[in-house]
Amino acid sequence: MRIIDIVVPVHNESGNIRILFDRLEKTIQSNSDIVFKYIFVNDGSKDNSLVELVELSQENSRVTVIDLSRNFGHQIAVTAGLDATEGDAVIVMDADLQDPPEVTLDLIQAWENGADVAYAQRRSRKDGFLKKATAKIFYRFLQMLSDVPIPKDTGDFRLLDKKVVKELNGMREHSRYIRGMVAYVGFNQVAVAFDRDERLYGKSNYPLTKMLKLATDGILSFSNAPLRLISNLGYLFSTLALAGIIYALVSKLIVPTTVVEGWTFMVIAVLGVGGIQLIMLGVLGSYIGRIYTEVQARPLYVINRIIKNSEVRSGKN
Ligand code: UDP
Ligand code: MG
Repeated sequence: MRIIDIVVPVHNESGNIRILFDRLEKTIQSNSDIVFKYIFVNDGSKDNSLVELVELSQENSRVTVIDLSRNFGHQIAVTAGLDATEGDAVIVMDADLQDPPEVTLDLIQAWENGADVAYAQRRSRKDGFLKKATAKIFYRFLQMLSDVPIPKDTGDFRLLDKKVVKELNGMREHSRYIRGMVAYVGFNQVAVAFDRDERLYGKSNYPLTKMLKLATDGILSFSNAPLRLISNLGYLFSTLALAGIIYALVSKLIVPTTVVEGWTFMVIAVLGVGGIQLIMLGVLGSYIGRIYTEVQARPLYVINRIIKNSEVRSGKN
């Protein structure tokens, strides 16, 4: 009997949980030779989510709830779930039914046909204009910059074979961009097209600030392009500066009376270079900040308790 673990990060998903569970159960019951287990990670929900999750775990012994001690963020919640899996494959999906449960069948099919990673790639999505536009630009930008091929229009909805999960669980970096990490690991990766639905209840937990953080993690974790950009700009400006110095010296020697006129040029140059330097310091700072976090080597998350089969264990990470 093969086992597939379904990992679902949950942050304020009251109302969605049971519907997701029921729709998943209905979808997967046709796979009689696979046992499906659920790992819901409660990522510091402020609503009724935890109560609903505990209820579910009391009714069904295949449901495990990992209750984190506070909100650690989506990528870390998924990590906590992945750490707890032991099946032959893992499916990661959102709790808000934007990832249609029915698509899991296609993911499983791809896995049975030999894929180690089957990632669900959006053919279309029903989000707001801003979200769609920023996501589109970001994924193309990231593909251009990244050192590994990170598939575009792809979220964390995917199936991972256990050998991929094992590699991921060995990567303990703090700034986690799981899609990038999966791409980095390699193996046989296959895209499965799907149409992303609207969120059922509640509102998105990814406001612009969180989206920006995820985008930064994606770029800085998988690319040194910003650092290379600094050096290239440095060369460019040094060359320009050299030309300016030669120009200044030559004009001083040949037409000394006009020298004071360079004032406008000076101001522009000083301000321009100052601005560029500040931006570049910022880029360096982002990398240094990340080095600092990694050096601190704190645990990625803290578990409050694990609820399984109505037994409650206090969790030590
Ligand atoms: N989520 C989480 N912790 C967070 C934010 C989100 O566990 O801090 C979960 C959320 O419950 C959902 C998934 O991550 O299952 C994706 O979040 P959301 O639907 O809000 O993002 P969007 O689809 O709008 O990008
Ligand atoms: Mg969503």
